[in-house]
Amino acid sequence: MTAPTRPLVPAADPQGVNPSRARQAVRNLYARPALAPADLSAPLLVLPGSQSPGPGLLPGAVPLGDVPQTVERWARLGIRGVKVFAYGHDRDAKGSAAYAPGNRMVRAIAAVKDTAPDMAVTTEVCGCSWTDHGQCTLRTLGGDIDLTATFHLMSQMALLHAEAGADVVSPTAMLDGSVRTVRNALDDAGRRDVGVNPNLAIHTTLYGPFKELMQTNPVTGNRRGLQIEPGRADRDTLVQAHRWISEGADSLTLQPVMTAVDVLTRLHDSQNVPLVAYSTSGEWPALRALGTEGMTEFTAMLKRTGADSILTFAAEQVATYLAYARA
Ligand SMILES: [Zn+2]
Repeated sequence: MTAPTRPLVPAADPQGVNPSRARQAVRNLYARPALAPADLSAPLLVLPGSQSPGPGLLPGAVPLGDVPQTVERWARLGIRGVKVFAYGHDRDAKGSAAYAPGNRMVRAIAAVKDTAPDMAVTTEVCGCSWTDHGQCTLRTLGGDIDLTATFHLMSQMALLHAEAGADVVSPTAMLDGSVRTVRNALDDAGRRDVGVNPNLAIHTTLYGPFKELMQTNPVTGNRRGLQIEPGRADRDTLVQAHRWISEGADSLTLQPVMTAVDVLTRLHDSQNVPLVAYSTSGEWPALRALGTEGMTEFTAMLKRTGADSILTFAAEQVATYLAYARA
């Protein structure tokens, strides 16, 4: 009888952290947080009147008077940013109120900055809240997009928001040339330290609750021509991202995300600017149905998938959960 020899390759060949699974101290040693409140931004939808529709509809949809207490709560939870959308007033064909001093957007930006100076404020730059036809763009008499007038509107809005204290402006309508125009306008006005974060908006039903609440549905037609077709989103979003970056975008927002996680991964792999994943209003009912832990897991997945910041209606609930889980 010869003594058995030790096989050259063990039957089990564990790698990575597998051998350490049994010991809590070692698991803790290698652990990294799946998600932190600092990864989160919250949409702030500033409504007319004084009545809040309540968080059951869309969290973060509040009248102007409730902005300070809302933002103070978010800041205390460690949320780092808000994206401000204002319900437009005095709507007309040219969207004039969008760049009128002291409009609802300006007052909202000031209210956020007065309450939480360190909170990063991003603003929506788009015509649809301010035009009586509900289009994102201004139109010629013949109904075509009036590019010159639309770019002027977007530049004026961006400058107004920057003056009010916005840190980043976010052009929403996907018009080639708009990011360059807005960037130039900010630079010429000495606002070189205000960022431009354009949208990569894929056509979806998941914008519905927002459009309903903010009354930004176009009176006629749809805005599909200004969005990425879902069937080609995996390719066209990348092309558009590179266009935006070449025009001067310093960060990007992808929306929606629940039905575009593949796109988020590709975007993350194909360029290097910070990516905001915007979990849009139509995703909220689904997240709510998942419950707090489920929506936290979903949000953590977006971070793992490549989001540098997650803009979500679940921000407050998730941040509260994370604070509780840490305790
Ligand atoms: Zn719009």
